[in-house]
Amino acid sequence: MTLPRGFKAQAERHALEFRQQLAAPKLAPIDLEEVAGLLNAQVISGETLVSIERFQEIERLQVGAFSAATFVINGTNFIVTNPLNSEARRRSDIAHELSHLILKHELSEIREVEGVPFRSCKPEEEEQASALGATILLPTPVLKSLVFSGIKTAEKIAESQNVSVEMARYRLHTSGVFNITKSRNAV
Ligand SMILES: [Zn+2]
Repeated sequence: MTLPRGFKAQAERHALEFRQQLAAPKLAPIDLEEVAGLLNAQVISGETLVSIERFQEIERLQVGAFSAATFVINGTNFIVTNPLNSEARRRSDIAHELSHLILKHELSEIREVEGVPFRSCKPEEEEQASALGATILLPTPVLKSLVFSGIKTAEKIAESQNVSVEMARYRLHTSGVFNITKSRNAV
């Protein structure tokens, strides 16, 4: 699948707008709870709603079955995350869910895992939410600044931005910043 024309540039604009609205320090990891606040959303860990044993049970039945889901209650969006996941993974999931809200995707398809219903979107919308979520976590200008300040490897970027190494690697490549890390000027 391919993203619509202009999508990547629009994603970068969204990512920078949030950083400007939050007046966050340029190279600090983005505070997703604050971004959620701008979107009339609230992030809650799943264990406040369902016992952690239930999540362990779902995980045993189907590994990775539940990452996060968004529920609308009285006009407020609640993003429920999986308490079993690492903080870096939770941040990817939250950014993904926030992206569905930003892109105004209709939560339509209902999938069930062991009697627990999860709403999801169309496959192309899932791809868009993942791309935008990743950009919100690591916009290209932030990646460039990190690289020029000496934070160049996916591992170091992941640590500095509180994201997974896979996420850092993915964004280094999709943004094209990876090529800068290889050039002599960046040394
Ligand atoms: Zn999704």
